[in-house]
Amino acid sequence: MTISTTLTQPIALFGGTFDPIHKGHIQTALEIQRAYQLAEVRFIPCWQPVHRPLPFATPEQRLAMLACAIQNMPTFTIEECEIQRHGPSYTIETLELLRQKLPQTPLCFILGLDAWRGFAEWHRYEDILRLAHLIIAMRPSYSLPQSGKTKELLQQYQTQDVSALHVSLGGSIVVHALSERDISATAIRKQIAEGKNPGDLLPNGVYDYIVKQQLYRE
Ligand code: ATP
Repeated sequence: MTISTTLTQPIALFGGTFDPIHKGHIQTALEIQRAYQLAEVRFIPCWQPVHRPLPFATPEQRLAMLACAIQNMPTFTIEECEIQRHGPSYTIETLELLRQKLPQTPLCFILGLDAWRGFAEWHRYEDILRLAHLIIAMRPSYSLPQSGKTKELLQQYQTQDVSALHVSLGGSIVVHALSERDISATAIRKQIAEGKNPGDLLPNGVYDYIVKQQLYRE
């Protein structure tokens, strides 16, 4: 863990496919930003996820939906480096790039519990923990793994002390229990394919974009 006294306010990084971005993502970002006093939330849409099937929408369409969703939120931004890099989106490469650009800013990488379950298979996961903190967003109805490498990582790095995110560049894990109802992109895509309107689960403008682009019809 690198400790420094000249750090700026931490920022959150929220990576994912965002296929499409939905209110669960936005609510999570807002809740975590407030709870840990984070200066900004940077959404990082991937080009091609490493551990899951290809998204249905193109990177450009997913980016457009993200931009639409956060347009009135000045502390929410988009980092396009994974889209520009093309190919498989390795989080460690993104973090190395951001660490170069922001040498004095603690980086707090948000990931949902489903993503955390596979974290020990991520490319150079130990380096990820060296470069950033992790905030595990516990979605309602999920529970932490009780065995395996991720359990060991939690025993080693988990802290209840929120100030840890402000006084070092990385190296701590915080588990955050979300208060929101569970929303999933998979369920939203399924509703659209069935001809239903899941507009209330999507940020303003995103459903209109999906309809115009004829996305997720099958
Ligand atoms: P899918 O249903 O296709 O798996 P997803 O929304 O879970 O979609 P991503 O868009 O890749 O998948 O999610 C980005 C990140 O947001 C992941 O870390 C995921 O765990 C987390 N996440 C997804 N939905 C929610 C939610 N409702 N609340 C909190 N975090 C979420």
